[in-house]
Amino acid sequence: SNGTDRELRAPICCILGHVDAGKTKLLDCIRRSNVLGGEAGGITQQIGATYLPVENIRERTSLKAEVAIKVPGLLVIDTPGHQSFSNMRLRGSSLSDVAVVVVDITRGLERQTIESLELLKHSNVRFIVALNKVDRLYGWKTCPNAPIVKALKNQSDDVQRDFRWRVTEVVTQLMESGFNAALYYENKKIKQVVNIVPTSAVSGEGIPDLLLLLVRWVPEIMVERLTYVSTVECTVLEVNEDKDFGTTIDTVLINGALQKGDQIVVCTKQGPVTTNIRYLLTPYPMKELKVKGQGVYKHHEEVKAAQGVKISARGLQHAMAGTALIVVKAGDDLERAEAAAVHEISKIISLINDDERDENEDEIAIHENSRIKTCSEGVYVQAPSLGTLEAIIEYLKTLPVAIPVSGCNIGPVHKLDVIKATSMLKRKREYAAILAFDVKVIPEAFELAAEAGVKIFMADTIYKLVDSFTDHINKLNE
Ligand code: GDP
Ligand code: MG
Repeated sequence: SNGTDRELRAPICCILGHVDAGKTKLLDCIRRSNVLGGEAGGITQQIGATYLPVENIRERTSLKAEVAIKVPGLLVIDTPGHQSFSNMRLRGSSLSDVAVVVVDITRGLERQTIESLELLKHSNVRFIVALNKVDRLYGWKTCPNAPIVKALKNQSDDVQRDFRWRVTEVVTQLMESGFNAALYYENKKIKQVVNIVPTSAVSGEGIPDLLLLLVRWVPEIMVERLTYVSTVECTVLEVNEDKDFGTTIDTVLINGALQKGDQIVVCTKQGPVTTNIRYLLTPYPMKELKVKGQGVYKHHEEVKAAQGVKISARGLQHAMAGTALIVVKAGDDLERAEAAAVHEISKIISLINDDERDENEDEIAIHENSRIKTCSEGVYVQAPSLGTLEAIIEYLKTLPVAIPVSGCNIGPVHKLDVIKATSMLKRKREYAAILAFDVKVIPEAFELAAEAGVKIFMADTIYKLVDSFTDHINKLNE
């Protein structure tokens, strides 16, 4: 195939960057329904994601009809601050096809920007830099929602000079992080050089450019990856209690299609659970929400990738965030699906039961396949999902002074986790610590830790977590 007759799915995009760079504002701006008030393709806020149909993007960017776009839309994953890790590295294989790294033009690269860049480098995810807050340049004349080149032409020489200078600065900083980058409209090597798009999430300059780049550049560089296939690839993001539907799972459907009634295998702490999709749900688009007498969610017979979907079914109570949802279509072998789920689960279990592992060869093999390698001496790490856990452990490894990890678990910190962490008290006292990233610690675990002398560090950003642990180590060494 030459690529022209392929059916492509919507690229999945996440937004990363330093706190206050404008991630939330940019997402809001992208979500805003079209300014012209037309009817074309209303944006739907999906589960944990926002779907922008391509007609909407065409209208917002005044794209000429003859310009072809190969993807049906764009799925933007919501990354509320601390969740950027989980969204990036769910299931080890990255959930996102592409990332937007938001940089405040008045501040340049900051700590979390560099963290995001490291993560992207590690996971081989391509990205665009949104050089945000251009409207904050002194003397900037607002041109609401204008393409950036047009907006720049409208600025005084001073503003243009200031802009140039700041772009150069950021390009230099990116180079120091190992990336060649250029303003996208001056970029001659779009396959190698990172695109920079100046934006304002407040007045909308450069937003059409960013959207167009996402739907045009992304399919150009990853046509294989975006090719729609019927094999379902679906990741569990979150388990929720819903007052109407009971326990539901929020998922991102990366490829393939889900149908109401489909038999699915879900990974739970107790093992694979085979069940059937009772309801396939997405939230109503804003406009439709006003219709009286209907629930919050829209029911579907079928949902096709890429989309965010809420699934209602029996037996989802113990589903694990970050694991794959496996679909058993007619003619598929249920045993094989369950075996795949067992494999997915044992990947996690084998990490958790570090001690037993030595006695079981199968588990060693699974351990070898996993990205998480634990040591006999190290801290205990706890996170809300496997993907987050993997991302954190990888990050700890890349620090100038690496922090070794001896054990880990997913979900809230319980007494058993503290008990496991106490094993370091004898081996290497400073590692008798639990780094709890974005998870709760149950009171009994706190009590036990205080009694036993295990330190618990809690934070919802990785650098805060590392900082407080490093401070602790430094104090011990003084
Ligand atoms: P986040 O922490 O990256 O999600 O940042 P937010 O989206 O919460 O933005 C942080 C602050 O910067 C808020 O007060 C925003 O209103 C403001 N902000 C974000 N983007 C822009 C922008 O393009 N221009 C201006 N002037 N302010 C912005
Ligand atoms: Mg935010």
